[in-house]
Amino acid sequence: MYADIIIDITHEKLDRVFQYGIPSHLEGMLKVGTEVRVPFGKGNKETRGYVVGFSEQPGYDLEKIKPVAGIVEDGIAIEGRLVELAGWMKETYGGTMIQALKTVLPIKKQEEIRSKKQILLAVTEEEGKKKLDWYLHKNQKARARLLAALLDCPEQEYDLITKKLHITASVVRALEEQGMVKVSSRRVMRSPIHKMRPKKEPVELNEEQSRTVGQFRQDYSRGIRKTYLVYGVTGSGKTEVYMEMIRQVVDEGKQAIVLIPEIALTYQTVMRFYGRFGDRVSILHSRMSQGERFDQMDRVKAGEVDVMIGPRSALFTPFFNLGLIIIDEEHEGTYKSEQVPRYHARETAIHRAETEGASVVLGSATPSLESFYSCRTGRYQLLELRNRSRRQELPSVYIQDMREELKAGNRSILSDRLRELMEDRLEKKEQIMLFLNRRGYAGFVCCRACGYVVKCPHCDVSLSTHRNGRMVCHYCGYEEPVIHVCPSCGSPYVGGFRAGTQQVEELVRRQFPQARVLRMDLDTTKQKDGYEKILETFADERADILIGTQMIVKGHDFPKVTLVGILAADLSLYSDDYRSAERTFQLLTQAAGRAGRGDRAGEVVIQTYSPDHYGIQMAAAQDYEGFYEEEMRYRELMGYPPVEHLLAVLMTGPEEEQLHLAADYLKQFLKRIDPGGRMQVIGPASPYVAKVSDVYRRVLYIKEEEKSILIEAKNRMEQYIEANKGFQTLRIQFDLDPMGVF
Ligand code: ADP
Ligand code: ZN
Ligand code: ZN
Repeated sequence: MYADIIIDITHEKLDRVFQYGIPSHLEGMLKVGTEVRVPFGKGNKETRGYVVGFSEQPGYDLEKIKPVAGIVEDGIAIEGRLVELAGWMKETYGGTMIQALKTVLPIKKQEEIRSKKQILLAVTEEEGKKKLDWYLHKNQKARARLLAALLDCPEQEYDLITKKLHITASVVRALEEQGMVKVSSRRVMRSPIHKMRPKKEPVELNEEQSRTVGQFRQDYSRGIRKTYLVYGVTGSGKTEVYMEMIRQVVDEGKQAIVLIPEIALTYQTVMRFYGRFGDRVSILHSRMSQGERFDQMDRVKAGEVDVMIGPRSALFTPFFNLGLIIIDEEHEGTYKSEQVPRYHARETAIHRAETEGASVVLGSATPSLESFYSCRTGRYQLLELRNRSRRQELPSVYIQDMREELKAGNRSILSDRLRELMEDRLEKKEQIMLFLNRRGYAGFVCCRACGYVVKCPHCDVSLSTHRNGRMVCHYCGYEEPVIHVCPSCGSPYVGGFRAGTQQVEELVRRQFPQARVLRMDLDTTKQKDGYEKILETFADERADILIGTQMIVKGHDFPKVTLVGILAADLSLYSDDYRSAERTFQLLTQAAGRAGRGDRAGEVVIQTYSPDHYGIQMAAAQDYEGFYEEEMRYRELMGYPPVEHLLAVLMTGPEEEQLHLAADYLKQFLKRIDPGGRMQVIGPASPYVAKVSDVYRRVLYIKEEEKSILIEAKNRMEQYIEANKGFQTLRIQFDLDPMGVF
């Protein structure tokens, strides 16, 4: 037998399998995923690598095959299935095998194991009592104290009991020598959730929720595995539904992974799961120490965990009998990795589930177009929750035309209507959220008098202003000079938006001096727990108004909020990429969904310069399907995902001229391998940030209906790049169906 090994060096040229012999002392010890030491290269330098398979036939001359030197002591074996998953990710998303392996590897190296000493009673109670009398008789007080404590409870924590009873190590040793006690050491797991005390009782599912869970259960118990989309309006109680689905899976002896956007992974969320599944729940998040993560993975491997909750990377939890993967808020952009391989957690989860016999449940109030489209084509099954959990009304939404405010002489950030409603709520002691849309702000140009936005005539996305005083399209590179007068109405009020959360806060404090105001943005959440503290203060009603960026729209339940104001709704509408309307619709719907979750009905004011845009209109009507139909017409017309697939090729290099040349060559190569012109190649163009710390960037986009053709084109480009010297100093990354522009 020979071991097939991937060498741990990120270099395209080495991105293949190398065969090694298995020496007799390692026979039977290597598995797929084992990290090994191997001699490599001319000098036989010891290098690390991973076993990815075995073969019976040597692929080379026998004398050329070197033996494996040994197993890396503190290495973490990647489970065989995850190695397979890494192979699929490399193939689909590009990059090297070693990059893919490192992505599926939950932790980098073995951490120190932490343990605690225990003192145990080593004799029967009767013997113990006899000895206790003896100690008392001999006036050996310390020994008597310890023994009495152990007779009360035969197992005590060493540190605690010695400190509490003032007992020295020599006393313990003496009792040990007499065979009265035993000292043992037990491993303790660093648990991130040990301090939790669940308090919420499970709710009774309403009819819609029961029907949804019932469907899943019926399929599941019959062995049917597939992908579901739970499309449920804001506040419909999706989390309760997930928990019941997990219950089914866990009862069958299987495990579940729950993916949640990191920002929504709050104490409250985890508590809900902990309340239901106790300490068989584990979590992963970026604020945990390596040690904590390591222990959680060991708990997983020891079968002590049924439910793992975490952000994107929790997808690679090495469960042996995975039954279900849930992806909450599946439309979120954070499910796409920004590092090579640039995988999407949704697609990767579906692949993992298919190979391991699990189901996938996606959930959102504003599903991604991809997922809803997949329901229409029959790839996923749609499960709907049309009502809020206790039948609360969805909020009433007003669209406030800011062009009218300008005409009426109001140049403030707050419209008259919003200001009046705020006064009303402050009087009634109800809470208010003000959401400033800063997402995807990319310097587009808009007319404040008529709402006109300058767009690329070829790509139908907004142009962005560059420092050179020109407006540029980030897909195709089209340019024109910056305008100073609106081409549509002649108004000189053209430009971008500038206001930030801090300015909004100042204004609100000035206008409502009596109100208690909180601000949540990158600045105020920098310190540890800053984020949770602000949320807690607001939840405890120690503040009246919460001002924030998109951070505040994520899955929080504040029953006292009855007014939501959305400022500059258009900011994300005209970011320069084809997903901008989708993203805006999602943000507005989710933000509006914060209002009226308790007993009192909510109101929402959306302030905009584009009141007629379908993204704004449909969000105000909370009409997802209406939005979907409109947006799909645009995607179809322009050939954007999910109708067609898009492959971005991001090229970076130190020399501008050479980079431009290489990008042009790559485009010509694409034309050569596709003589029929089936694929549509767009660009090369300069991305939004064309130069980062002296490194130049250039990007090509390829559109094509068939995903497999794009993957094949990627593979051909990878080979071409590897074979050509001109690309050596460049870095080239692929991004299949990117979440935005570069
Ligand atoms: P979503 O994720 O769909 O926005 P959640 O699962 O967070 O909704 O539920 C919103 C609120 O409604 C939570 O406070 C939850 O406890 C409550 N809730 C959910 N289902 C029910 C139910 N059947 N009866 C009463 N309250 C419920
Ligand atoms: Zn105008
Ligand atoms: Zn263009």
